[in-house]
Amino acid sequence: MPVVIESVSRKSPASMRLTILGSGTGVPSLQRNAPGYLLQPTNGSYFLVDCGSATLRQLEQVGVPYHRLDAVLITHTHADHIGDLMALIHALRYFPVDGSLRTKPLYLLGPPGFIDFCQRVILSVTGRPTHFELHILEAMASQVVCGVVVDSTATVHSDHFHSVAWRIHADGKRVVLSGDCDDDPGLIQLAEQADLLVLECSTLASGKIRGHLSADLCGRIAQQAGVKQLVLSHLYPIDGPDELRLSECQRYYQGAVTLATDYEVFEI
Ligand SMILES: [Zn+2]
Ligand SMILES: [Zn+2]
Repeated sequence: MPVVIESVSRKSPASMRLTILGSGTGVPSLQRNAPGYLLQPTNGSYFLVDCGSATLRQLEQVGVPYHRLDAVLITHTHADHIGDLMALIHALRYFPVDGSLRTKPLYLLGPPGFIDFCQRVILSVTGRPTHFELHILEAMASQVVCGVVVDSTATVHSDHFHSVAWRIHADGKRVVLSGDCDDDPGLIQLAEQADLLVLECSTLASGKIRGHLSADLCGRIAQQAGVKQLVLSHLYPIDGPDELRLSECQRYYQGAVTLATDYEVFEI
């Protein structure tokens, strides 16, 4: 039986809601799906941030079918963050819901180079949908999508292509999702005073990888940005329990910090 979380499936939440669909990475895992985050502002729109493999199935698990999505924000085009993007367009293009094909527009946003990527990699396989408008946009410092202000900043991650962190303003609240990144003043600025910050936390300090954050750095960034709540996600398997990350992070950040788990819901 699928785990359907009723509180997630309610159409209009009382406050902005974040659901963790995938707290993992590109490492296949039964505990942590590849990256995916569902954001529901109270205006009734559905935002997905990153779309790793099996994200469409995770959406089914939380009672929000793929066809409800209004906007998909991609942080970067590493496979663990876009694995189900082609499957999403394919499903929207071919499979009717309640007897009819989708007509509402879909917004896809990504870092610089994303329009070309979608044309070469996604639409070359799926074809371009004809029964709904597909808007493919590249990140700007600030833009309005489905009535919601979406800001971004470039992050430091890969030598080969661009990456961004996203900030969503809705209902008087600010949620920031870092995507994969390293320590960088631009990220701290974007996250300043955020109500909730989701940081990638790939490793402990002892296992720090270039282009990714370790738990100590997550704590420093959250402290410097003065965020109200911190969620550690994008958790690579480490040598020891995942909870080791918390104590390392809490040496620098004394606010509320959570180690993300799949299907976890945050009311913001
Ligand atoms: Zn990743
Ligand atoms: Zn990456």
